[in-house]
Amino acid sequence: MPNYEELKNILGPLRVFENEPLANHTYFKIGGPARLFFEAKSLDDLKLAITTAKENKIPFVILGGGANVLVSDKGFNGLVIKNRADGIKLVGLKGTIDKTGTGIKNALVWASSGTPMNQLARFTIDQGLEGLEFLLSVPGTIGGGLKINAHFEVEKGDFIGSRLVSALLFNTKTNQIKNVDQTYFEFSYDYSKIQQTGEIVLEAVFRLDRAQDSQGLWQRAMDNVKRRNDQQPVGIACSGCVFRNISHEDAVHLATPNLTTSTGYIIDSLGLKGTKIGGAEISTHHANFILNTGGAMAQDVIELINLIKAKAKETYGLDLKEEIFLIGDFL
Ligand SMILES: Cc1cc2nc3c(=O)[nH]c(=O)nc-3n(C[C@H](O)[C@H](O)[C@H](O)COP(=O)(O)OP(=O)(O)OC[C@H]3O[C@@H](n4cnc5c(N)ncnc54)[C@H](O)[C@@H]3O)c2cc1C
Repeated sequence: MPNYEELKNILGPLRVFENEPLANHTYFKIGGPARLFFEAKSLDDLKLAITTAKENKIPFVILGGGANVLVSDKGFNGLVIKNRADGIKLVGLKGTIDKTGTGIKNALVWASSGTPMNQLARFTIDQGLEGLEFLLSVPGTIGGGLKINAHFEVEKGDFIGSRLVSALLFNTKTNQIKNVDQTYFEFSYDYSKIQQTGEIVLEAVFRLDRAQDSQGLWQRAMDNVKRRNDQQPVGIACSGCVFRNISHEDAVHLATPNLTTSTGYIIDSLGLKGTKIGGAEISTHHANFILNTGGAMAQDVIELINLIKAKAKETYGLDLKEEIFLIGDFL
């Protein structure tokens, strides 16, 4: 039997909220209540919340920034742990270190998994380090970013996983914490192994290069933000791209223009842009975005997802796969 009272006593009765609306914690602004809700403000908080939930047989889920999830209208019948354990520091420099720092070739940066990716980008740019500036203004935390291998221009290799050196993972099945290197994650487009294992990222270390032109770093990062803002709808509740892009093989098979793998192109070509169910709408700006135009329910979004999948299958034989993760009961 789940022992909710024991969990509240251990984590602090005033820090555990009951029936917290998850719509307040997701970029979609959608989601019913969490039976229990706890904000982990440190890595110790995070580990304690996970172990306590396990010991008391309470189902739990980690929420980072809530930028890549769709939470059920029924909410989550267990403990939602919002990871706010943040922190960043330089932990190593390589090269000939002189007073001017000009001999530095690369640097290691440590970060706690609840650190916003935007904060990591700002820190590294300020340090004159390049490699993660594409994360400027990308919503979400480092933990959520490593799970999906957050990216910008895929063809340029802009993946968060490309810069990862090592990470500390919590295995919730064995209760063990282990340090793993980059290869462990088996990163690829929108994929890392922790999607399979369910391990939780506690900390991460990244390797960055000293920028040849550190003055220009901010400008380049801002240019990326501008390009992203031109391509994506801005200022409307959503969860980023809903589907993963199609494979290169599928693009070749379908002879898409310039062999684009964009699922936005596929949805657009199905004539679905602007389709609305309840308060949810397929963006007219970028068809791989579903928007909450006001009062959307998770069920509305699910129906649009099912419609897109069915049409893509029927017309092109494609099995589209969601990029967003579902939390809660959708049956
Ligand atoms: C407007 C908008 C624009 C976006 N643009 C981009 C973009 O340009 N590029 C891009 O890659 N993405 C983009 N996204 C998607 C989103 O930013 C990323 O997917 C991001 O990595 C989500 O991180 P999060 O912390 O919010 O994860 P959440 O949404 O909180 O969680 C996602 C999944 O990760 C799990 N998780 C969270 N923390 C951890 C942890 N510490 N350890 C293990 N699992 C964890 C959760 O349980 C859940 O399964 C965009 C989203 C929005 C809303």
